[in-house]
Amino acid sequence: MSQSTATVELDALIVGAGFSGLYQLHMLRNLRGLSVRVVEAGDSVGGTWYWNRYPGARCDSESHAYCYTFSKELTEEWDWSERYPGPDEILRYLNHVADRFELRPWLDLNRTVQSARFDQDSNRWQVECKDGNRYSAQFLITAVGCLSTANIPDIEGLDDFSGQWYHTGQWPRDGVDLSGCRVAQVGTGSTGIQAAPVIAEAAAHLTVFQRTANYSVPARNCALTDEVRQQQKRNAESIQQVMHSNTNGHPWKINPQNALDTAEHDRQAIYEQSWETGGLKFRAAFADLLTDNTANDTAATFIRNKIRQVVKDPETAASLSNIDHPYGAKRPPIDTHYFETFNRDNVDLVDLKKTPIVKIDRDGIQTSGGHHAVDVIVFATGFDAMTGSLLRMDIRGREKSLADAWVAGPSNYLGLQVAGFPNLFTITGPGSPSVLSNMPVSIEQHVEWITRCIDDVLAAGKTCIECTEDAMAGWVQHVNDVANATLLPTVKHSWYLGANVPGKPQVFMPYAGGLDQYRKACNDVATNGYEGFTLS
Ligand code: NAP
Repeated sequence: MSQSTATVELDALIVGAGFSGLYQLHMLRNLRGLSVRVVEAGDSVGGTWYWNRYPGARCDSESHAYCYTFSKELTEEWDWSERYPGPDEILRYLNHVADRFELRPWLDLNRTVQSARFDQDSNRWQVECKDGNRYSAQFLITAVGCLSTANIPDIEGLDDFSGQWYHTGQWPRDGVDLSGCRVAQVGTGSTGIQAAPVIAEAAAHLTVFQRTANYSVPARNCALTDEVRQQQKRNAESIQQVMHSNTNGHPWKINPQNALDTAEHDRQAIYEQSWETGGLKFRAAFADLLTDNTANDTAATFIRNKIRQVVKDPETAASLSNIDHPYGAKRPPIDTHYFETFNRDNVDLVDLKKTPIVKIDRDGIQTSGGHHAVDVIVFATGFDAMTGSLLRMDIRGREKSLADAWVAGPSNYLGLQVAGFPNLFTITGPGSPSVLSNMPVSIEQHVEWITRCIDDVLAAGKTCIECTEDAMAGWVQHVNDVANATLLPTVKHSWYLGANVPGKPQVFMPYAGGLDQYRKACNDVATNGYEGFTLS
């Protein structure tokens, strides 16, 4: 897309062409003839899945639930090939959506937002892109994802490294040939746990540098048969009804039974069955796993025992199972042969709790326990989650920048709006269920609410909607209260709290009160004449 000097005048500008941006575009294109555009940094649609193409990348929501539900025809015509889709298949799906709903003419690709300023005189957002292109829009909607800004650790000596290094979230589009390479992988979160088995297959040698040991449950990925696909399509309505009414947007209900009210023998049987089923559903084995430490211990012990059964070397097994936080209090990974990978001859684990990284040098990584010569370093070190991608856009409201407004951590109303930033909406922003839920379901809820809101504002003959400081303070308090009723904020190194990024304020960011409660809160606000907002 070349630079044009004229400012493009719009009713709404959307930033990002992933799941959220595409659906928001589709909805607003069909509302009151609004003029809408999407700006997207990548050269195609896809968002998270455009950037995250590291070895082993795969969604850990199930394919029939990790998709839009707004169109029966779309559900009917699209065939997923596996239980969990990989990036290529998700990208094919999103490209199909872009074509099917004729969205492409309104996508401005290869265009990165540099700044967005609210102009009080015109009551419009003035947006400037890095390539000099400019937009002016009444409504500005961010659809930038929660996990899009790479967190690359500031380790002394990285610039001296003579080999190649990559962050998993910025993986080269054409892949990386790791054959014959000695690879270091730093990080054992959801990404690292997916990547290690695949890297180990490709590379001559893999050394995994683990700072905090992590739980993982087998994903049990498999090809979907025609029969399963037909069954999912036949039952689509009832499956979607579950996803739209439960706490997490996944196609299952949480077992209402408490672990602590269940006899040991029966509890173990439920865990064994959940382990065999695999996937994130393990979290739903009992109702009290995320609210009661003793209950959580029963799940944690079960998984630790599984790790020790799988991993043959006792020292490696001890390091992998020496997990310091409750199960599920950090985002729980799911895997395909992660722990089994440590039984391979070409894989080693370095326990950074025992021997921390001292520096990187020309030839590899130096820890306090020795030197590890490598050709490639893979940083699976996560993201400046939830706020990083919003703050790097340099958004400025009536009086201050978003960075200044959020200097002590993100505060907003319903996860959707910030006081002082009129007509700005943040899809799956902090303070919304987002990352604690199956994302496409949360995205659809946000997009539909924002669309209804814009429609109502315009129908009332108003031009501006802005949340009040009081409403925002009340919501922030509520977000904290519901988080504090769970074990989630008890983990020190959690990206949910921003604790993974040095200097980032530590505030529990997602809404832990459940997607069902959240949906109700949003609907009630709209039905009650946008309580907590000012329309002008
Ligand atoms: P993450 O969960 O933040 O994990 C980052 C890993 O890097 C952790 O093991 C962390 O250790 C380690 N690390 C960070 N800085 C380090 C340093 N300076 N030295 C050594 N180790 C360091 O990031 P992620 O694995 O990319 O996952 C982020 C989120 O993305 C997930 O929680 C999930 O929500 C999403 N995700 C989803 C999928 C999917 O759907 N399939 C796949 C991948 C990711 P500490 O734990 O000690 O901080």
